[in-house]
Amino acid sequence: MSIFEKLPQALLPWYYENRRELPWRQDKEPYHIWLSEIMLQQTRVEAVKSYYRRFLDALPTVEDLANCDDDALHKLWEGLGYYSRVRNLKKAAQVIVKAGEFPGEYADVLALPGVGEYTAGAICSIAYDQPTPAVDGNVLRVISRLTEDETPIDLPAYKASVRERLAQVYPLEAGDFTQALMELGATVCGPNRKPDCENCPCREFCGSAIHGTAEKFPVKLPKRAKKEEEKTVFILSCDGQFALQKRRESGLLAGLWQYPNVPGKLETEQALLIVEKMGLKPKNVLRQVERSHIFTHIVWQMRGFYLEVAEPAGDFIWLTREQIEAEAALPTAFRQFF
Ligand code: SF4
Repeated sequence: MSIFEKLPQALLPWYYENRRELPWRQDKEPYHIWLSEIMLQQTRVEAVKSYYRRFLDALPTVEDLANCDDDALHKLWEGLGYYSRVRNLKKAAQVIVKAGEFPGEYADVLALPGVGEYTAGAICSIAYDQPTPAVDGNVLRVISRLTEDETPIDLPAYKASVRERLAQVYPLEAGDFTQALMELGATVCGPNRKPDCENCPCREFCGSAIHGTAEKFPVKLPKRAKKEEEKTVFILSCDGQFALQKRRESGLLAGLWQYPNVPGKLETEQALLIVEKMGLKPKNVLRQVERSHIFTHIVWQMRGFYLEVAEPAGDFIWLTREQIEAEAALPTAFRQFF
């Protein structure tokens, strides 16, 4: 029996005994599974729990999501980051509503905006018990340790071959098997730490456990350095109100709110001139801070000026702290100045 063939038998009983109670594991509703999988991309389970509940309280059906106003939608996602995820959720919801029902076939799920092979595999296996593996970094790490495979896991061909080999051994309890693999990769065989082989259901046939090589795997390609961009951010206040503006409708953080900002790190005098060019009269520089924010491929190095101005003028909307909290989705990159 190959290592792959041994997996279902080893993993399923372990999963039934050890699985964590998570809000999205309470039913097999495709909308719920889809939403949780999109939220879980790049975000920790603990952080997702409250967002997931709040989102479904506000938008209990796919129709509600399809019809939700963009600002309200961004507000529900505020702090989760990677906002294109929620914009694609809405686009996909509109496709589903038009079609009349949630798609039931892998190819149709994969065709939805924002749904890649991993998410389509997760939805079809968990909601419909289809043999469609959901292979992400966690699963690749586990497989590379089990098989002591030195192929870099970031190579698309490696991922495709793992998906293919897993699909061949899928049991009838497909959804549970998908989640068992995810659970193993998130807990006992987790990232950036020594795996807990003693408590792993695969320890008897895992190459890394047998040979003590777990820390050598997974092998990854060298990382490319992130591009750095400098910015000057203006936190302009007047009588308890702050100036905000909408970002462009395309590109990074599209359609969200931001504090006014310009490229480059300006000195105080230059910064004051820019504020005047915005049609405002600066009174006091209250504070100057240095902050950074890391995106997937880019790092913003920011200098923030907290400035009092004489009147709430210029091409901005002026909101109080409470109004910003309640109405405006301010991404974390800017919220840190709040
Ligand atoms: Fe990971 Fe250890 Fe389990 Fe192998 S035995 S899969 S290295 S936790």
